[in-house]
Amino acid sequence: MTPGEPLELLISREQIAETVKGLAGQIEGDYPEETPLLVGVLKGSFVFLADLVREMHRPVEMDFLRLSSYGGNTTTTGKVRLRMGVTSPVRGRDVLVVEDIVDTGLTTSYAIRYLRRRGASSVGVCTLLDKPSRRQVAVPLDYVGHTVPNRFIVGYGLDFDEKYRHLPDIHILIGGSDGP
Ligand code: 5GP
Repeated sequence: MTPGEPLELLISREQIAETVKGLAGQIEGDYPEETPLLVGVLKGSFVFLADLVREMHRPVEMDFLRLSSYGGNTTTTGKVRLRMGVTSPVRGRDVLVVEDIVDTGLTTSYAIRYLRRRGASSVGVCTLLDKPSRRQVAVPLDYVGHTVPNRFIVGYGLDFDEKYRHLPDIHILIGGSDGP
């Protein structure tokens, strides 16, 4: 990050690391026998998923879904489109959706329905960030890292118009309020 960027630190890299470790431990304990299939929702979850699996000291499999609901701005369109599906067989598997952030819930509920339709025996959800204030559909969140306020968040995989994904900490984008 360069000086003068309109960013306010929300969650430091040290806090994120601690959170990720905690989530990995919980997930490990909950799937003691099976090799779960972790499905990252692109693009935002790629950093989180990469850190999460390296804190899980057991075999896991990974695949990716690409869904989009946001254009190049900070307000949702309310529509979710499938841009890329998974290639792994899902039938009969325990699947865990890995999200960067759950906001309206539309993307996550689409991902859950998509994986259930493909015959997953269970579909859990792990999200690093939960922004409950704008929820439009109820989604069961099995693992939540941090609850965040109704502000536009960037860094650690989350972008604004493809910027800021590379930042190691999580920030609020000043002037990027999601409020009505
Ligand atoms: P939802 O469908 O829950 O409204 O939104 C999910 C997707 O919207 C997330 O995966 C993320 O890509 C994007 N999104 C929602 N809130 C934010 C935010 O505060 N910052 C960023 N960068 N993306 C967000």
